[in-house]
Amino acid sequence: MIPDDPARAAVVRSTPDFVGWPDDVARHYREVGWWAGRTLGEELRGWATRAPDHTAVVSGDDRWTYRELDLRADVVAARLEEAGIRHGDAVVLQLPNSAAFVAILFGLFRLGARPVIALAAHRRSEVEHFCRTTDATAYLCADVVDGFDHRGLADEMLETVPSLRTALVVGDPGHHRRLSTAPPAPGERIGVVERARPGDLALLLLSGGTTGQPKLGPRTHDDWSYSGRAMAEAIPYESTTVTLVSLAIGHNWPLTHGMLATFHAGGTLVLAETPDPVDCFELVERERVTDTGLVPGTALLWMDEAPWTRADLSSLRRVAIGGSKLDPELARQVEPVLGARLQQMFGMAEGLIGFVRDDDPEEMRIRSQGRPVSPGDEIRVVDADDHDVPEAEVGEMLARGPYTIRSYYRAPEHDRRSFTRDGYYRTGDLVRLLPGGFVEFAGRVKDQINRGGEKISAQEVESHVMAHPRIRQAAVVGVPDTVLGERCCVCVVPSGRAPGVNELRAFLTERGLAAYKMPDACEILDSLPVTALGKIDKAALSVAVGGRGDDE
Ligand code: AMP
Repeated sequence: MIPDDPARAAVVRSTPDFVGWPDDVARHYREVGWWAGRTLGEELRGWATRAPDHTAVVSGDDRWTYRELDLRADVVAARLEEAGIRHGDAVVLQLPNSAAFVAILFGLFRLGARPVIALAAHRRSEVEHFCRTTDATAYLCADVVDGFDHRGLADEMLETVPSLRTALVVGDPGHHRRLSTAPPAPGERIGVVERARPGDLALLLLSGGTTGQPKLGPRTHDDWSYSGRAMAEAIPYESTTVTLVSLAIGHNWPLTHGMLATFHAGGTLVLAETPDPVDCFELVERERVTDTGLVPGTALLWMDEAPWTRADLSSLRRVAIGGSKLDPELARQVEPVLGARLQQMFGMAEGLIGFVRDDDPEEMRIRSQGRPVSPGDEIRVVDADDHDVPEAEVGEMLARGPYTIRSYYRAPEHDRRSFTRDGYYRTGDLVRLLPGGFVEFAGRVKDQINRGGEKISAQEVESHVMAHPRIRQAAVVGVPDTVLGERCCVCVVPSGRAPGVNELRAFLTERGLAAYKMPDACEILDSLPVTALGKIDKAALSVAVGGRGDDE
């Protein structure tokens, strides 16, 4: 569909901050209808017009219809504008799973402000990096989450980040400004003049990354909206679909597979605070949940609990599992134990998402992590010289398509490494492309630890560890773990008395690093093994400390 208004079709696809899709490619995506030419704010209006009284979101005591969600997004947009936030502003958004998150996200879209999505678990180091990279004008957070007072972090950010003008708090604001998602008071202004266009930058998503600081993926209204619609069509979701999101909503997968795809289908989104199986099973029974997404570690916890639960799980149709590799033996047990269809999936904040369909061949449903959701997705599997490898051989996966970014945000030096000249994203994942287009994950080339689906950049942790006064050299490697897939082990060569793991964790906490990046173990070594080229030999190191050297 091509928008009637040519001014709206003339979208901004490249800016000094990031590279967009070439014009002819963008035109094609729009002509075939993958890009619908609607902003996310307009999409919400459409969903609310189509089924105003259907329940859109359930979270704690909140239960909002599409009409209510639409109204709250409108009033939030006006309140944000009242607080001085403008079209084009970057706003670091850090909230736990909640209906408020959804209303605020769409309020920001309506205003044309750009949410920078932080995980609730992020701390000073990450939040400050997001604020600085994007020149954010506002930090938007909850009061206290898991014992951590975000208002204190807001104080620090306002002191240290020059671009930051305000902090907005959901809940008890302390001395900051409060942001309420309550319906409008009598006479209160609702809505704003919407100036965003479909090709504009809509939001910035956290990339797992391998570099010193996390990178941000710039997503447009067109492309991000399409990723949810493509999923809804491929799964398929319907208006009777009830999805449960229990993983942290700041990740692209819960955001798209859970929220966006559900809304596109006109279904209901149920939010849980954590993936704890006891709480989630109650929600499954109460809300008649049909679909949910888990990482392998939480799937294992659910499967341990399922035989003992009194909750009625019979409404569950599908359990999507991804984020890290699901062991085939475990994969075989999912359906008998949870009584729902296993749907392996893979995805990345940079875009590409794939999953197995309900009627895919049994072997592929167990062995592979799925196939891409859009006919517009292009995948290549290449060797170290960027030559395509034969089918079913292992190589690095490159991806391009209507919802896979062409560059990171304000990171040109990383772009040179992470994207090919013709616009493919280098995923850093080693895969086999099997007949039928199924992707089997086989390891990775990127220097990253996948701890229960949370990605940890080895380099980021190493740079913090190296700041310790009694550490001369440090290398972070993954070691296998039956529940998490991998744990994070830091190998250090000390200068003087070696710090223990607890001292190191305290040191990293003090430096403001998120808790999920803390090393699980610390190995003290006299020296680190090196390759023939003199680089630290991570494969050898990983084997030396109990790992396998790679993912296989
Ligand atoms: P993120 O951007 O945090 O979602 O991380 C994306 C990365 O997670 C991918 O590039 C893969 O390395 C990894 N990943 C996602 N799904 C799977 C899966 N099903 N099996 C193995 N690795 C996965």
